[in-house]
Amino acid sequence: MMVFALACAMSWNYIRCISIANGYTMSQHFLLSAASKTLKLKDIYKAGEEAAYRKFCDIRWAENDGDAVCPRCGHTDAYDIKTRRKFKCKACHHQFSVTSGTIFASRKLDFTDLLAAICIIANASKGLSSIQLSRDLGVQYKTAFVLAHKIREALSRETADAKLDDEVEIDGAYFGGSIRQANEKEDRIDRRRSRHQTGKRRVVIALRERGGRTLTTVAERESDGVAFAKARLENGTIVNADEASHWDALDDVFPTERINHSEAYSLAGVHVNMAESYFSRLRRMVGGQHHHVSPKYLHQYAAHAAWLEDHRRSSNGALAGRSVHNAMASPVSRTWKGYWQR
Ligand SMILES: [Zn+2]
Repeated sequence: MMVFALACAMSWNYIRCISIANGYTMSQHFLLSAASKTLKLKDIYKAGEEAAYRKFCDIRWAENDGDAVCPRCGHTDAYDIKTRRKFKCKACHHQFSVTSGTIFASRKLDFTDLLAAICIIANASKGLSSIQLSRDLGVQYKTAFVLAHKIREALSRETADAKLDDEVEIDGAYFGGSIRQANEKEDRIDRRRSRHQTGKRRVVIALRERGGRTLTTVAERESDGVAFAKARLENGTIVNADEASHWDALDDVFPTERINHSEAYSLAGVHVNMAESYFSRLRRMVGGQHHHVSPKYLHQYAAHAAWLEDHRRSSNGALAGRSVHNAMASPVSRTWKGYWQR
């Protein structure tokens, strides 16, 4: 009962938090309102390791009231080996823990630190560098780097199979591959020429449904967005795009509205301003936190910014609850498992 009371005190039920979040006044910036702040780091550490552990159990096994469910055979009755925080299935005798088979499998951090990491990342509305996370948690840079990427991978699962409809904006923005210019004018190069580029430049393409989700992909050319849109938009979706000629191909498949940015940013409801807002967040994330992003991982930062954008009206408690939920539903990561051992 004590544990349950502690867990409730931590304001973690994100469904409850979402309804709290809807109670803020519009005149105030959401992040300044009390409704945006439903979770404090202090509370996580004050409630302690057992409460944090129970939080993971409650979210992973919500359908069984937080009691263990065997990941191998699905049996809902298990011996609780409390001293080791392990379970043994009464049917098939398989031993498992609350993180077995999830993206947090083989975790070494305490549950309080895992929750704290999730809280710190949820609080960072423009993302967070691994260096900063490693300082906040007092862990090695490598630990923070992998942990943050595992959380990003888990978050991106929310929209992994999503398709958009109604009205959708499409746009692309280029990231990375910039070269520092030489000091003296005569040594400077024309950075627009392909022979002066690093080959690391990529375009992030965003599909953003008005009032819905944001889907992203990373490609070498913006025109690759045509295939992306065809794969991720329902038939009949109305697409808003700028005047770039490669979007002409969308018109064969979807009713497509075009906005000429040399005339206006928005005319008669035709615009890509929501997609631009998304890119603004991603630019601040990359420019202000990560500085140099490898083309290999750009898709994870892009997806993280999309997630933050889509849930920008959720409280930090709601975001953290969602993060735990996503992590517990995500399988062991092929990219991040044993990343530094390779
Ligand atoms: Zn079993």
